[in-house]
Amino acid sequence: MKIYPYLLALLILLTACAPSVETSRPADTPTAAPTAAPPPQATPPAPQPGAPETQTPPPADDLFAAAGLTLEPPICNGALTPSQAQGPFYTPNTPQRNSLLEPGIPGQRMIVIGYVLDANCQPIPNAWLDFWQTDGEGRYDNQGFKLRGQQLADSQGRYYLETVYPGEYPGRTPHIHVKVARSPAEKVLTTQIYFPNAASNQTDGIFNPQNLVTFDIRNDMLVAYFNFVIP
Ligand code: FE
Repeated sequence: MKIYPYLLALLILLTACAPSVETSRPADTPTAAPTAAPPPQATPPAPQPGAPETQTPPPADDLFAAAGLTLEPPICNGALTPSQAQGPFYTPNTPQRNSLLEPGIPGQRMIVIGYVLDANCQPIPNAWLDFWQTDGEGRYDNQGFKLRGQQLADSQGRYYLETVYPGEYPGRTPHIHVKVARSPAEKVLTTQIYFPNAASNQTDGIFNPQNLVTFDIRNDMLVAYFNFVIP
């Protein structure tokens, strides 16, 4: 029969047009977007055995904290510190230092601290101070710089002096000479500070009770407080 070639051709044509079986993923599976690998977490390096711990150092000017001392807010009535005679034993251009202690200097260790204030009782940051005094036996060093030193008050207007309690010399009660100013280039107050209970205070012709320090024993240290008030 002649119909067979036609049926055969029709069969081939239908087979060719049939949809092919989808063997890939189902159509409803969302295409997974490529995801970037998470960045590695930054981890601090493990401390090396024996490495020193890093700590924030105290401010360089905080000698009070280093000595375990606190300084109360200033007590001040605005009265200017009286000037006092300079005397014959001043030496300029002294070393910049907060401690005048050196081996072999006789005398009881003493810390002298306080504020430099203006007439409104406001601290003067970075005020300039220059100290000179005798050792515990009443002797000045007029050749060198022993027991002489200048410094700047800290950012809170506080000064800090480590020294010895001065001795007496003929005609004078124990005292420390001081020059104080907002800066070395500005008007300088020249004065002296004194110590309570020194018997010679009563016979010293220069002594001024307004310039007496206040004593305290703190951490087994003799501590003298005095606030300078300058224009
Ligand atoms: Fe003197």
